[in-house]
Amino acid sequence: MSGLASVGCEPGTEIEMSSNNHAYNRELQQDARSWAAFTGSKYTAALRQMTSPFTQGLLGDRPSARHLISVLDQHPLVGTDDDGPSLSDNGFYADDPWRFNGQTDFVELVLVVEMLRMFTPTVAGQEPELSSYKLKHTAEQFLRPHCDYVSNGRLIWAAAALGLDLVDRGGSLNLSVGVSEREHHYLRRLTGSGQERPRGHQFRPPGLLHLQDALARCAAGGPLTGAWVRPASAQVGAPFHDWLTAQVGRPDPVGDIANDYTAGVRDSDHPIASTPGELLSLLYDVEPSPSFYDAAVAAIAEWMATSPEAAPIRTDLVTRDAHEVAGWGAGPGDIEVYRYRCPCGFGEIVEEHDNTPGFREHDVHIRCDRCREEWLFAAGLPVRGWGLVPAIGAGRAQAG
Ligand SMILES: [Zn+2]
Repeated sequence: MSGLASVGCEPGTEIEMSSNNHAYNRELQQDARSWAAFTGSKYTAALRQMTSPFTQGLLGDRPSARHLISVLDQHPLVGTDDDGPSLSDNGFYADDPWRFNGQTDFVELVLVVEMLRMFTPTVAGQEPELSSYKLKHTAEQFLRPHCDYVSNGRLIWAAAALGLDLVDRGGSLNLSVGVSEREHHYLRRLTGSGQERPRGHQFRPPGLLHLQDALARCAAGGPLTGAWVRPASAQVGAPFHDWLTAQVGRPDPVGDIANDYTAGVRDSDHPIASTPGELLSLLYDVEPSPSFYDAAVAAIAEWMATSPEAAPIRTDLVTRDAHEVAGWGAGPGDIEVYRYRCPCGFGEIVEEHDNTPGFREHDVHIRCDRCREEWLFAAGLPVRGWGLVPAIGAGRAQAG
């Protein structure tokens, strides 16, 4: 798409370097000429925009002005058809002409391209759900103060230039744009006014942090860091999470907690619980009703009884204390005490190690009446490697 990738990357000879620079400058000049002609603005103003740090490609190749212009002519949906142009600022088949200010119009369009690049695109078979109109507002929120206004048409234009899936819902100025709806929701919570900030980051747009950093660097006039590489969409194995989300819709307490948990993951209310212990950690934060906690224990017991991948539960460490002691004749040693939350959160699990020569006692116990009834230490584990299993699950396993 451009010669940018080859500039300054390879330890080539001076001749190669200068020819790369020469090719790159020619690209910029051709783009500036095309943009000036297309928008009816001055060449020098267009060239200034082509050389702005903001337009050199923050999450990928430098977006080329000639490519952007050609999209309006050739794109299968929003390109020119027999009746003329099919896109302008107000949206799809709006018939007002584009408005260009001749100063920042190209930079702003490129910033919308970069904003859309941060998301995971929808894949074949996945229906785009996000309205271009909603996205344009999110783009404005996110790109402030670098760009204050984004028109619906420019949002669609940028999406078309990136090859994102675009769907005409019929009779609307808006199109549906093929980027992850969950990731958009996350960004909306992050940047929208009056929104509660996301507390789980499973749907953070993959390019978000790099783009935020790059925008700040551009604004400060500093050098950019290395190129961003879109992460491969490797699904991290989280068997407990997968099992729990598969229980959605069950007409019992386990179904209820599965519904709540899955909705919370989807809306970035909390992180994914890849283990039952992580589910208990999430529950500490929301102070569940007793029946909700009971449902969580029932879900965990069922998972442990049915899944070969289930491991005993560890809970959150609260404090760690170690102090040296003089010892009794055989020399000094130390005593370590670790306090963990108990599963219900109202008591604790205490792990103690007396490392004094001649004593060397190691012990772990539950200091919570309720959890002593409901949980057992899994058999066969060393004190430091303790883990809990639900008493009802253990009972069922023994009975079975
Ligand atoms: Zn407890």
